[in-house]
Amino acid sequence: MAYSTEVVRRARERLAQARADRERENREHLRIAYEQQPRLKEIDRQLRMTMAQAARAAFAGNDAVRLMEEAKEQNLQLQREREWIIEEQFEAGFLDETPICPVCSGTGYVGSSMCDCLTELCRQEQKKELTFLSAGRESFDQFRLDYYSDKPAPAGYIPRVIMEKTYQTCRRYAFGFHEKAGNLLFSGNTGLGKTFLSACIARTVADQGYSVVYESAGKLFSALEKARFEANEENRRAAAKYNECDLLIVDDLGTELPGQFVTAALYSLVNDRLLESRPTIISTNLSEDELIRRYNPQIASRLRGSYKRVAFVGDDIRLLKSRGGIR
Ligand SMILES: [Zn+2]
Repeated sequence: MAYSTEVVRRARERLAQARADRERENREHLRIAYEQQPRLKEIDRQLRMTMAQAARAAFAGNDAVRLMEEAKEQNLQLQREREWIIEEQFEAGFLDETPICPVCSGTGYVGSSMCDCLTELCRQEQKKELTFLSAGRESFDQFRLDYYSDKPAPAGYIPRVIMEKTYQTCRRYAFGFHEKAGNLLFSGNTGLGKTFLSACIARTVADQGYSVVYESAGKLFSALEKARFEANEENRRAAAKYNECDLLIVDDLGTELPGQFVTAALYSLVNDRLLESRPTIISTNLSEDELIRRYNPQIASRLRGSYKRVAFVGDDIRLLKSRGGIR
């Protein structure tokens, strides 16, 4: 899984905060305990002394072993007394000083690899990136094939048959997602479910712990433009996630304001992700000819060669719904 720098930063911040909270709580509990049981404070002081004694004993020449044993014995007695007082006087867990994560002690890393506790926080932070989708709670189960006509269209195909195939392609892609899952190009007119099915994929893939970024073409290009022309840390981070995420979904390519910058940015985005074999889904109303005219033949040929085309056909669902034809 490749989480963006920004997501990892937020997750580490939360972990550090949780660790600080736990330490503050531990200190506060200890203060209360000392107040209620002054003997505890005395024991802790003596425990520190026995440690210092043991350390000194190591340099005591012939007496080293005997002094070490004495310090160890005293230490054990004090520990037992301490445990006894705690058990008698405080509810379980009140003076529990275990770190927030027993595996990594709350640092988030075991050696150079990320601990599960930090990975889980990354996953949660990653899902927040998708929150703007959550209003609809799109899921594959809600997809309705009866929105698509079962009568042959003038061109001869039956919309429902095509859309059944499209639906299955999307489901398989989402549930079988992996880091080299390949790329999809959703093409078809507005109102045929492209956004709905890409939202379903985004959610399903994110649920498996992958980093998913879902962005409309308009927002994506303006973020890239900001990173290019106002290159501060925040803008750079905002743009970096488009390259770093496991799955990038670009909604509605062709609705952004056109221009040379957009064409160049699209070309390098598509190219960079292809070179890294990072899966991308692009949805667009544009036909291949329109893609060539609007951007350039190189981009159109990259999309043709490296993206699996997924067709969306039928009558505009939003229109059908507003006419009351579908419930
Ligand atoms: Zn951990």
